[in-house]
Amino acid sequence: MSEYTMTIGGQAAAAPRTFGVINPATGEVAEQAPDCSREQLDAAMAAAQAALPEWRADEAARRKALHAAADLLFAKSEEIGRVLTLEQGKPLQDGTMEVVGAGVWLKYFADLELPREVIQDDDNALVEVVRRPMGVVAAITPWNYPLLLAIWKLAPALLAGNTMVLKPSPFTPLSSLRLGEVLREVLPPGVLNVVTGGDELGGWMTAHPAPRKISFTGSVATGKRVAAAAAPDLKRVTLELGGNDPAILLDDADPAVVAEKLFGAAFMNNGQVCSAIKRVYVPEALYGDVVDALAAKARSVKVGDGMTEGVEYGPVNNKPQFDRVSELVADAISGGARAAAGGKAIDGPGYFFEPTILADVADGSRIVDEEQFGPALPVIKYRDLDEAVERANGTHFGLSGSVWGADADRAAEVAGRLECGTAWVNTHLALAPNQPFGGFKWSGVGVENGTWGLYGFTEIQVIHRSRL
Ligand code: NAD
Repeated sequence: MSEYTMTIGGQAAAAPRTFGVINPATGEVAEQAPDCSREQLDAAMAAAQAALPEWRADEAARRKALHAAADLLFAKSEEIGRVLTLEQGKPLQDGTMEVVGAGVWLKYFADLELPREVIQDDDNALVEVVRRPMGVVAAITPWNYPLLLAIWKLAPALLAGNTMVLKPSPFTPLSSLRLGEVLREVLPPGVLNVVTGGDELGGWMTAHPAPRKISFTGSVATGKRVAAAAAPDLKRVTLELGGNDPAILLDDADPAVVAEKLFGAAFMNNGQVCSAIKRVYVPEALYGDVVDALAAKARSVKVGDGMTEGVEYGPVNNKPQFDRVSELVADAISGGARAAAGGKAIDGPGYFFEPTILADVADGSRIVDEEQFGPALPVIKYRDLDEAVERANGTHFGLSGSVWGADADRAAEVAGRLECGTAWVNTHLALAPNQPFGGFKWSGVGVENGTWGLYGFTEIQVIHRSRL
């Protein structure tokens, strides 16, 4: 039995079977989660469908409900934050902040205007472009920011008048289950349904006839499967996929100032952020200083069980990801890279890995070309800026990137040459509810956040009134 229940049609739903959820700080099963059956998924889809007519008809009620949902999350941020730490591994203060962030996003969307544009108003006609809800949205999320990324979908989708069936990652189902339980208080039955299970459940959702839209965040490989599954039924998709973000330092960057910020943006959430810095390009003259500063910082941070006071970085979330990070680091080292800090797993239970700075990484190393999604950062030397930009762009990824230097105008000019959805100057990972976020190339299709993200949960409708 699980003490967490799915939410279907506003009711608690236990599943015929459960699966274990591992605490990554111990490697032991900490809780059980419901394993949704096909019949229960059908029931969740039917409930979402049934809730649509009333929900889409009352914009004021939707805004009120989203505000109330935000207030509930603020009130329960510590409680749900603990659940996040248990299943995800992040330190308690980060778990709590994730819940608070989710509330901030809900508040933003609760007040966001649904645009209605007049494109012609003359003697011939009044022509308006309005946005209509799509229907049932299937939302599928990953394990790095389970709650925040669910809200990135839920808030705009519900504001636009859609209803939702949400499925979190099997590694981190508990916080979304709790979200469903908590929001039963403020959302009409069927508006938000939360189901949990393995990857297979995601496949059932994308193939299900009810959803008109799939909003997916996860890896490139799964994103492609989702796109293929959506095609036969022409379901709309938004895909927020992996990244391999470059940071390029210019020759006027100050290593002492920049290294601290680079480290923060590379190791946030233990490197498990789609748009974390995943490779750093440094001019030859600054290379030694930057590597040393990053390595000193990496050695100074406190890694441990996220439940322990003062811990800054937790474990890697799950065993497959832990194995992958270990493998990519070992591969780089065997290819001639030097571990300026870290370089190996930390002995003991749980999926802990030393914060790792890799210097002298050979071109073509897997850790440069692939997404490591963990606490290991390759630092790469360059001689010629054009070549650095070319190497930064020479990948299928295109989520975000950053350029760092004392002359911000020059840095902005270089940032504009990066092939990615967000190009930062002297910062990285600066995200906001009103700022559209999405990827070029294999990093995604469509965007989330801001008015542009809201559009992704709507169909355009033209209302053309003839005056003749
Ligand atoms: P994943 O692709 O393995 O899983 C993501 C979700 O998809 C999970 O809920 C999983 O159960 C589900 N799933 C698996 N197979 C499926 C299928 N065939 N059909 C439908 N759903 C299926 O990704 P992950 O390992 O959980 O997350 C890490 C990845 O997510 C990284 O690549 C990271 O960069 C990316 N990510 C992207 C963003 C973004 O906004 N661009 C944000 C966070 C994470």
